[in-house]
Amino acid sequence: SRADLDTAQDLARRAALFLDNARLYREARRSVLLRDEFLAVASHELKTPLTPLQLRLQWLRQQTRKDKPYLPTSLVLSQLDVVQRQVDKLSGLVHGLLDVSRMSSGRLSLHREDVDLEVLAREVKARLTLAASQAGSEVSLTTHGDVKGHWDRARLEQVLTHLLANALKYGAGQPVRVELRDAGEDVVVRVEDAGIGIAREYQSHIFERFGRAVSERHYGGLGLGLYVTRQIVEAHGGTIQVASEPEKGSHFEVTLPRREST
Ligand code: ADP
Repeated sequence: SRADLDTAQDLARRAALFLDNARLYREARRSVLLRDEFLAVASHELKTPLTPLQLRLQWLRQQTRKDKPYLPTSLVLSQLDVVQRQVDKLSGLVHGLLDVSRMSSGRLSLHREDVDLEVLAREVKARLTLAASQAGSEVSLTTHGDVKGHWDRARLEQVLTHLLANALKYGAGQPVRVELRDAGEDVVVRVEDAGIGIAREYQSHIFERFGRAVSERHYGGLGLGLYVTRQIVEAHGGTIQVASEPEKGSHFEVTLPRREST
């Protein structure tokens, strides 16, 4: 009857509402957990450089007391090197956090100019030579065709640096390949490593804010880099994808339209 139908429809509506609320609740809970986890990781990461910094500063202060004899320059310089590295680390973390807060509130603006991606990639590769040798790894760079476009150079430098640094960090010392390719209206960047790979259930989360495998905590990092990377790529109208298999390695592929779409 009509009344039964109404009741059935009402029940269905309630059930849908209930399921919807349950989903919202699960999502809210997940984001609270992520945020707690993030705060814990962030505080830890920010704290780590402080101890060596404090020790070096204390040491330098003690050594420069008036009654102390002259200190060898090389010794002072080596201590200052440590100080510099830790300050750089802190500065990188803080800039990462600032980027994220800027991007979450949609305030990422691009300063486009003519960029040759091959030149940029070569610079990034050169800058990461030390990281590569520390990882016991080698980076190869190959370019197919014209890879020029109208992009934000500093932002793309961030993208290349981050993908390459991750490939070295999670690359288990295996060679890393960077490939740039002319794809007509687009330029495609591929960064491949043969390292630890990413579990399937986790792959869809790595581009999220604070998204990182809890089990990979011992690698250090805030889980912000790929979020920032994706925001930059998407601000350029591009896409980023990952293909990965645990123990086999990961391939990241970025597709960048050469020009701003009108
Ligand atoms: P993090 O600073 O923690 O490395 P990212 O946003 O760069 O943050 O990466 C998020 C997570 O994705 C990492 O914690 C790591 O678990 C995983 N990941 C990223 N790149 C790779 C890679 N090349 N190989 C394996 N895992 C990766």
